[in-house]
Amino acid sequence: MMNEILAAWRWNGSVSEPVPYGEGHINQTYALTVTSAQGAKRYILQKINTDTFKDPAGLMENICGVTDFLREKAKQRGADPARATLHVVPTAAEKPYYQAADGSCWRVYDFVENTVCLQQVQSAEDFYQSAVAFGNFQHQLAAYPAHTLHETIPHFHDTPKRFADFQRAVAEDRMGRAAQVRREIEFVCAREADYHVMVDLLAAGKLPLRVTHNDTKLNNILLDKTTGEGLCVIDLDTVMPGLAANDFGDSIRFGANHCAEDEADLSKVNFSMELFEIYTKGFLQAAGEAFTPLEKQTLPWGAKLMTMECGMRFLSDYLEGDHYFHINYEQQNLNRARTQFKLTSGMEENWDAMQKVIEKYC
Ligand code: ADP
Ligand code: MG
Ligand code: MG
Repeated sequence: MMNEILAAWRWNGSVSEPVPYGEGHINQTYALTVTSAQGAKRYILQKINTDTFKDPAGLMENICGVTDFLREKAKQRGADPARATLHVVPTAAEKPYYQAADGSCWRVYDFVENTVCLQQVQSAEDFYQSAVAFGNFQHQLAAYPAHTLHETIPHFHDTPKRFADFQRAVAEDRMGRAAQVRREIEFVCAREADYHVMVDLLAAGKLPLRVTHNDTKLNNILLDKTTGEGLCVIDLDTVMPGLAANDFGDSIRFGANHCAEDEADLSKVNFSMELFEIYTKGFLQAAGEAFTPLEKQTLPWGAKLMTMECGMRFLSDYLEGDHYFHINYEQQNLNRARTQFKLTSGMEENWDAMQKVIEKYC
């Protein structure tokens, strides 16, 4: 099987056995080395998760479009294009990916050498560097025609639709769990008007459609091994047209706190204004000039709505019997939902302070 796949590319030398690489959870990632008279060169080989991504052709078209654009931008500013973005290696048939006889889809990237990929924020500096990297991503892609991108997961951040799905899960109450979580259900329903704020601004043409990454975690950036600087944004499967505030907001949701996503002791779950400021600073320093004034003003909405979306998805899954998010113990999705609601409350308490931080870095 692996031989069939490797044979789809024109390798310039002898190819090593691919070995599993990294700690990604979505795709199957391998590293391999090609040795020739010129030396050794590493590549990343990935099996695309086609259960999650039903349209690999559209997905790869997005990735090639965005990385080609980023490569040109890097050249223009004198940066090393090989380290500023991913580079898709086309197959021998000049395709961006290979579909094997069993239907599985595979792609190859140049390995970005001398980089590190951190699984967790170890210091405020790491979080800052991730903000700079994702801010740069926005800045460099500001002129990209976002409407030409495929929606790899339809309705991904359609918050009103997420709420409608939640309401359905409550009404069906398949596991008979709704009665024990009345307070949480009320928390979600009480914020119904909020869920429309950003989609309405977009529909009214008041916010621009942007290239969004939609998985803005620290482990989706490669940092320079020597300087620690955020170099290259990777994991572009979820690149879609969307709102800048949603990418910003998702980073804040998981990064601006010191707790586990399923922390059961809510006294330990607190939205950190300090981390919020660090991320905002990096993100706006890198991308600020690309954003409109309203786009900047509405960044806190992104934080709140991404957190609420996640909370309602966890709670929906709990009500439906935990078939979407993998659980290790029975109440895990409920705990996850509760942390999101506690963080949302923290944001609401700090709403004015969040606006002030945004203004400070505008
Ligand atoms: P997943 O969607 O499964 O998270 P990723 O595309 O993020 O897959 O890849 C998983 C891991 O592989 C990354 O976290 C990173 O450590 C490593 N990786 C991916 N692409 C490259 C690359 N081009 N160069 C070096 N490392 C890479
Ligand atoms: Mg990843
Ligand atoms: Mg991914």
